[in-house]
Amino acid sequence: MAGDTASASTPEARPEIGVLALQGDVREHLSALRAAGASPRPVRRPEELAAVAGLVIPGGESTTISKLAVAFGLLEPLRARVAEGLPVYGSCAGMIMLADKILDPRSGQETVGGIDMIVRRNAFGRQNESFEAAVEVAGVPGGPVHGVFIRAPWVESRGAGAEALAAFQGHPVAVRQGNLLATAFHPELTGDHRVHGLFVAMVRAAGR
Ligand code: GLN
Repeated sequence: MAGDTASASTPEARPEIGVLALQGDVREHLSALRAAGASPRPVRRPEELAAVAGLVIPGGESTTISKLAVAFGLLEPLRARVAEGLPVYGSCAGMIMLADKILDPRSGQETVGGIDMIVRRNAFGRQNESFEAAVEVAGVPGGPVHGVFIRAPWVESRGAGAEALAAFQGHPVAVRQGNLLATAFHPELTGDHRVHGLFVAMVRAAGR
């Protein structure tokens, strides 16, 4: 019966979305994705990456995530899946992982890339290492989201293909390019699942 098998493209379907589980706030993203209508699972191995319809790269420490992605044999498969159009959402360190270029990388620090932007790590400076602010995000209806910034990056510059969805203090802090979404802040820590909802909608649309 048609109604029994909701395909990935129907609004009722819970798309299988992975959370890169090498380091960072994996559990929070798994629950935010579940609340936003996805069927989430941790991804640590290339076979697990191959099986998901979308991926979240969590916040944490981008240098560590980069090293572990290489050690787990995931960096090249990640680049390949991004090149094929896999929807990926990166928050904070995850935003850094999606940048084509880091302004101030640690030596040997790699990114997956895909968003035509240069990010500055720990951009808000010492005085402002962690702070919270209301951020209006294009594509997220219902008023500003509560942005939790923890040693967050900002977008220093970007190409025409990278659309700024939100800015704070004059710098883009949410960006979308095609199937890739990145925020400098951590919506998974707030209980507000609208940003994850936007990403789940992107995954559903990509499955069409
Ligand atoms: N400053 C961290 C980095 O460079 C990011 C911090 C975070 O993800 N909360 O990776």
